[in-house]
Amino acid sequence: MARRHINGPGHRGECLTASKRLFVNPGLADEQQRRVLLHEMCHIGCPSHGKKFTARLRRLAELGETWATEDAERSAHWHRVNANRLLRQMVTDVAVDRLEWSWIQARRVLAGQMHFQPMVFERTYPWARPAWEKEKREARAFQQRYAQLKAKFAAK
Ligand SMILES: [Zn+2]
Repeated sequence: MARRHINGPGHRGECLTASKRLFVNPGLADEQQRRVLLHEMCHIGCPSHGKKFTARLRRLAELGETWATEDAERSAHWHRVNANRLLRQMVTDVAVDRLEWSWIQARRVLAGQMHFQPMVFERTYPWARPAWEKEKREARAFQQRYAQLKAKFAAK
C-alpha cells in the first residue's frame, strides 16, 4: 500500500510497503535525509502513525537517535488528530445514510473502520455516540420538514 507523508509533520519521504521501496526527498540535507529514511523504515508493514509505529521510533531513540523521541510524539499527535477528524466524518455519514440503524449497528461499523472492538471503541471515542445522535436528530428533522412541505403543496 502506498503511503505518502508529504503532508505529515516533517515527513519528506514515502514508504511503499508492497514494492518494498522507500523514498526520500533528495532536496534535503544529508542528516535530514537520514532521519526521513529511518522514519520511513519504521513504516514498513506499518502504514499508520499508531502505537506500533511510535514504538519503533521510541526504540530508535533508545538506540541513540535522540531526535526520534520528538518525532514519535509529533507522529502520535498527528495520528490522533487525523483519526478524530476521520471518525467525525464517518459518524455523520453513517447517521445520515443509515437513519434506520440503532447505535449498536452504527457502532459495529464505526469500530470496524477504526480497527477497534466495539466496547474499546466506545471507551476510546466517548464523543462518537452523542455526535451520532445529534446528526440523526438533525437528519430526521430535515426529513420531517420535507414531508410537511410536500404534504402542504400536495393539498393545494
Ligand atoms: Zn510517517
